[in-house]
Amino acid sequence: MFTTPPISESPVMAGRRNQLVAELRQKGIVDEQVLQAIGRVPRQLFFPKDFEQFVYRDAPFPIGHGQTISQPYTVAFQSQLLQIKSGEKVLEIGTGSGYQAAVLSAMGAHVFTIETVLPLLKEALKVLKILDNQIQCFHGDGTLGLPASAPYDAIIVTAGAPEVPKNLIDQLKVGGKLVIPIGDKPDSQTMYRLTKNSDGSVNKESFGPFRFVPLKGKEGWN
Ligand code: SAH
Repeated sequence: MFTTPPISESPVMAGRRNQLVAELRQKGIVDEQVLQAIGRVPRQLFFPKDFEQFVYRDAPFPIGHGQTISQPYTVAFQSQLLQIKSGEKVLEIGTGSGYQAAVLSAMGAHVFTIETVLPLLKEALKVLKILDNQIQCFHGDGTLGLPASAPYDAIIVTAGAPEVPKNLIDQLKVGGKLVIPIGDKPDSQTMYRLTKNSDGSVNKESFGPFRFVPLKGKEGWN
């Protein structure tokens, strides 16, 4: 669960966050659980210092190591597609700043997150500890999933994959959902939601174009 952060912030920051929530609503996000979570997570904690004025713009932003914190709309869109119920186990591939993990936790999910770039993971861990020490962070190749804690109710991939990593389907519960951007170029993807059937096959729905940094690793881009 997500605890109210012991941080002090200016009313300006809180106001900008409320405005962002209104903007996401206007752009078509309808899931109240998602909107409330975004309304509660202080994005400034996951953001590079000295760029305060950009924190609540609906845009991605560089966080170092060639990676980005995802655009809030994208975070909201993927979170909405997951259709999480409180207490469900969710695996995130690509911790990055840790912001998406915090939003999922604020939605009531039990979050596991995995990242390949160790310095990014360490930074994210510091911030997530302030907010919620129940998010479990791992270092490694997320295309292999996280078998030790499988199966998951939902899996979210926050980097662009060339194809669906088979391990991730294997580690989903029956009825579980995998939300993943897939594209045949490293910088341009279509968002997909895959739902696992009892015979191990999947139903695939597509949700339009998005742009992510590439998913690396064994079943990613090399
Ligand atoms: N969810 C993040 C956005 C991350 S950007 C946020 O909220 O800020 C995508 C991240 O995926 C990058 O940090 C990148 O290093 C990571 N990544 C890429 N390939 C990966 C892999 N195979 N396993 C785990 N993480 C990976």
